[in-house]
Amino acid sequence: MRAKAMFSLGLLMLIFATLLAHVGAQGYTLTNFRWTDETVADLRYTYDSYLDQKWTGPVFWSATGSWEYHVDGVPDFTEVSSGEDISIESWESYENGVLAYWQPVDYQWNGVFYWLYYSVIKINTWYIEECYYTCDEHRQRIAAHELGHALGLGDLYGTFDEFKLMYGWDNYVDTGIYDPKDDDINGLWAIYGV
Ligand SMILES: [Zn+2]
Repeated sequence: MRAKAMFSLGLLMLIFATLLAHVGAQGYTLTNFRWTDETVADLRYTYDSYLDQKWTGPVFWSATGSWEYHVDGVPDFTEVSSGEDISIESWESYENGVLAYWQPVDYQWNGVFYWLYYSVIKINTWYIEECYYTCDEHRQRIAAHELGHALGLGDLYGTFDEFKLMYGWDNYVDTGIYDPKDDDINGLWAIYGV
């Protein structure tokens, strides 16, 4: 998720998107990664010991809960202290505008992606230790968005995507999007549904 500096343009897009939100549902994008059926039924996550308690309290707990049980009982998340599938880690970078990112360790054969072994979510503490507008709600939006990547969903950048969780820009305007919306869930079905 990237920070968006142009506040006025963001607000104009927000108004425009509000007016036209019902016109152009553009669905979701997939990254071609998926967990095996066994793994997604018990996705184990852990926190890096340096991550601030602002993140390891209700924020990721709520974010994992917001994704759970939408597709025939999956995904199901469990916090563990070791042996994790997803590692949630702190990171500090001053200049690149990235608030957080997800990184896979995958299986590939002949250049084709098949499944995930392991993945990492990095939280950039430089940008988001301080509150801009909504504090915990903003953190939960970032946490839930990165978990969407960890499940196999890609970013969306369209004009009509602002009210989906997988919208890739974060302009610190409170859009009220803290959990997966219909198109985000449809993407989950596309990956893990039968
Ligand atoms: Zn993203």
